Amino acid sequence: MITAPTPRHPAWADLPDALWNDWRWQMRNRVTDAAKLGELLALTEAERRGIAGRNGQFAFAVTPYYLSLMEGPNCPVRRQGVPHEDELLETPWDMRDPLAEDAHSPVPILTHRYPDRALLYVTHNCPVYCRHCTRSRKVGDEASAPSAAMFEAAFAYLARTPAIRDVLVSGGDPLSLSDHKLAEIVRRLREIPSIDVIRLCTRNPVTLPQRITPGLVESLRPFHPLFVHTHFNHPRECTPEAGAALARLADAGFVLGNQMVLLRGINDTPEIVAALGRWLLRQRCRPYYMFQCDPVGGTTHLRVPIARGLAILDALRGQVSGLAIPQYAVDLPGGGGKVTLVPEREIRRDGDARVYRDVFGREFTYFDLPD
Ligand SMILES: *Cc1c(COP(=O)(O)O)cnc(C)c1O
Ligand code: SF4
Repeated sequence: MITAPTPRHPAWADLPDALWNDWRWQMRNRVTDAAKLGELLALTEAERRGIAGRNGQFAFAVTPYYLSLMEGPNCPVRRQGVPHEDELLETPWDMRDPLAEDAHSPVPILTHRYPDRALLYVTHNCPVYCRHCTRSRKVGDEASAPSAAMFEAAFAYLARTPAIRDVLVSGGDPLSLSDHKLAEIVRRLREIPSIDVIRLCTRNPVTLPQRITPGLVESLRPFHPLFVHTHFNHPRECTPEAGAALARLADAGFVLGNQMVLLRGINDTPEIVAALGRWLLRQRCRPYYMFQCDPVGGTTHLRVPIARGLAILDALRGQVSGLAIPQYAVDLPGGGGKVTLVPEREIRRDGDARVYRDVFGREFTYFDLPD
């Protein structure tokens, strides 16, 4: 956790605060080429090979703010933002679109998997291209954007499918759009009477907290109930700037939840997940999901065995507030949707007696009722 304002990388130490705190400046000055990144960080050979090998496939981009959080090669922020040669590993289980999102698209920018929910993709852009991204097949193509006709087709589908009550606005990162464009999309969704819940799925509070401006919040506020799913993965991302972004959203009535992805060597210990959860609760943001990393090509080195994920969850119970414990979800490859996994606490059954293990390893019996 970082308590003082995030120290800037020396390259930007003398920049006026007004520019540093301006999200447009941060976006314009993203680091997107290898030479520039090499001037700012002492890149390892493995990183150089990763950058070269992924060029044209899944490029990188990093905001000056997020780059300023990076330390040595094992830094959890750096490993999420800087390509590594391990991304070039090819395995038989690599998939391009592990969740079959494209196959379940009734119209091009919408995935409709569960009867009552739909996922709307509004942009391909993000401030930072997370190396573990499930949608690496389509994010980062900054020259392309969904057309007005695609948006109209999606709104029409949602209007004629009243079973859909919950729409997740995703991408890419929807906050890459202008305030006006985003508010216009949300306004159109709000006009559809069958939609109860609108969720904005955004990593901007993590990678570009400057984006959460009073103007953004005010332009969306008329369309509540709005939920925000953000994506903090490690306490090193928990800065005063990020905290201020979440506070601004919470103060304006947005309901905040965090979706972390379990990543090998980055956040795969109970201590890290607990520390992250405690910080999030202090920002009024509830840990919602802890995702198993999807089997998308280029992420094998980041995936954690499910048994380890379950052990982390098991260790959290009894150590942190239940409010800080996320659901552990595996999104089933091929488009089966999410399943949530729970550590096994039942030791044995003896007739109606069910014997459970408590958080200290002691045994307790619950006498169940016959049905
Ligand atoms: C994750 C997801 C949702 C939302 O699922 P919740 O469990 O309600 O958060 C909806 N549609 C698709 C296609 C998804 O992948
Ligand atoms: S912000 Fe989200 S969509 Fe964008 S690269 Fe990161 S994980 Fe992928």
